[in-house]
Amino acid sequence: MRTQVGIIGAGPAGLLLSHLLHLRGIESVVIETRSREEIEATLRAGVLEQGTVDLLNESGVGERMRREGMPHEGIILRFSGQSHRIHLSELTRGRSITVYAQHEVIRDLVKARLDAGGQIRFGVKDVSLLDLDTQLPKLRFHDDEGAVRELACDYIAGCDGFHGVSRPSIPSRMRREYTRVYPFGWFGILLEAPPATEELIYAYHERGFALVSTRSPEIQRLYLQCHPSDETGNWPDVRIWEELHARLAGSDGWRLAEGRIFQKGVIAMRSFVVEPMRYGRLFLAGDAAHIVPPTGAKGLNLAVADVRVLAQALAAFYASGRADLLERYSETALKRVWRAEHFSWWMTSMLHRFHDESPFHHRLQLSQLQYVAGSRAAATMLAENYVGLPFEEA
Ligand SMILES: Cc1cc2nc3c(=O)[nH]c(=O)nc-3n(C[C@H](O)[C@H](O)[C@H](O)COP(=O)(O)OP(=O)(O)OC[C@H]3O[C@@H](n4cnc5c(N)ncnc54)[C@H](O)[C@@H]3O)c2cc1C
Repeated sequence: MRTQVGIIGAGPAGLLLSHLLHLRGIESVVIETRSREEIEATLRAGVLEQGTVDLLNESGVGERMRREGMPHEGIILRFSGQSHRIHLSELTRGRSITVYAQHEVIRDLVKARLDAGGQIRFGVKDVSLLDLDTQLPKLRFHDDEGAVRELACDYIAGCDGFHGVSRPSIPSRMRREYTRVYPFGWFGILLEAPPATEELIYAYHERGFALVSTRSPEIQRLYLQCHPSDETGNWPDVRIWEELHARLAGSDGWRLAEGRIFQKGVIAMRSFVVEPMRYGRLFLAGDAAHIVPPTGAKGLNLAVADVRVLAQALAAFYASGRADLLERYSETALKRVWRAEHFSWWMTSMLHRFHDESPFHHRLQLSQLQYVAGSRAAATMLAENYVGLPFEEA
């Protein structure tokens, strides 16, 4: 088997890359360990930056998002019992976010690829990357019937997430990794209920962080700061509601509406970057190259930004033999990655309780929140990072 670009992973990064390449007449094959049903049912991110929305629209896969997505022009910071609105669009000359669940983006992209005759091989196993530092790198895997396959490619895109095989295939002496593990996690629930609030609420409380988010008019997503090794068994529904009500309590009369909880899970909080995002003919994109704590809602959006740059660079190569954009891919992508890493770390540090923190630290966090809520300059810094900085041209 032979293709131009072999793509490992049918997450947002891999699928969007395959779609953008197809629009430029470049052939790709996507290989994915899970089934189509599984990838279309995994609930994860939900906040799309302005640039992500624009790119999905411009590339012709935004039709359902425009109908079903929920544009938000602000977010709420809640602390000391009061809500403070950050007016995102007013502070960023009209930019905003759209709440549209990641698995819906995946469904739209899978459909677009398959309708266009694109190749996605679901249910593959034992993927290995060969000859990365040659002109003809290869992917070897077992297909869904157990047969060994080899796919020769011009280039390989490693879009297989944080636990994938692409990054470890780069010799360790050729990569540098930066990691920070946070001393807390997020306990996430999904519930059946109408939205409790028109805009996302980021709450800081002495018992810890809480986030009131939404996925659709019928499904709501709520999170609570918890111990990183906490387990769902420790959290009966009664305890979840008690804790959420306590952390979101205020003097303004707003109260969280309850609903039927149908999914619970603990998410680890980590910051991670590998440099460079390239080795030979392998390019990493998305979570395969970097992780952010979800507080800034940046992971999915960074994956989209990476593949936008990579698709442009591959298009320039196939159109005119220009390799300079490919040479600069890692440098270009990492600039945005580190901005998002900083923003995600900053939001996380401002909004969570740290187990070793002193009353002094708690006062500093409150002061920071008051400053962000009260200063147009500080609120603008939050707003322009949250809605996503405009894409830079490669
Ligand atoms: C609970 C939660 C909430 C989040 N909220 C937000 C948010 O609001 N906004 C935001 O921007 N981000 C958010 N994120 C982050 C976001 O979901 C990820 O950053 C995003 O999924 C990254 O996309 P990706 O395509 O790089 O990787 P993934 O989505 O992880 O996709 C990788 C794919 O590769 C496949 N794969 C793995 N190994 C192999 C292999 N060996 N061979 C073939 N295929 C393989 C996997 O099955 C998977 O389908 C959240 C994450 C979580 C967990």
